[in-house]
Amino acid sequence: MDFVCPLCNGIEEVNINCPICSVQMKDSGAIVNYLDDYSPYLSNDITQLVDGAPRSKCMHLFTCEKCQYDKRIQIDRVRI
Ligand SMILES: [Zn+2]
Ligand SMILES: [Zn+2]
Repeated sequence: MDFVCPLCNGIEEVNINCPICSVQMKDSGAIVNYLDDYSPYLSNDITQLVDGAPRSKCMHLFTCEKCQYDKRIQIDRVRI
């Protein structure tokens, strides 16, 4: 049994609105993807802890294209 992030796997989309201008924020991807640049030697499991999110969650960065506000959102992983 596997837990996967529905956003990373294209199963689901989450709509987050910018708290400043109320437009829909863009999913810039999982934070672990950014961390990979800095820690290429770490396994995926370890980087999941590094991003501060529990294993059952996938931390995503959402960005507002209008005002550049960004926000971290924890996405619940789903069972597949
Ligand atoms: Zn994800
Ligand atoms: Zn905005």
